[in-house]
Amino acid sequence: MKRFVQFIAGAICPECKSKDTIALNPADDEIYCVKCDFVEKRPEIKDSNNNSEIKVINIDDFRKNRDKN
Ligand SMILES: [Zn+2]
Repeated sequence: MKRFVQFIAGAICPECKSKDTIALNPADDEIYCVKCDFVEKRPEIKDSNNNSEIKVINIDDFRKNRDKN
């Protein structure tokens, strides 16, 4: 079974400073970084006008692409 991960577009990890590595956990209540061990309670998004979008990416494809470099 393929595992899909919801990434927060444009989010930068406060720990490793990588871009587009912040994802939502399956329960949607935490965010975490796929590159380091950063985990945080998901901040409440109150402003519906903010520009953060959720991208759904296959984690296997993500790892494949990452490992190419
Ligand atoms: Zn990180």
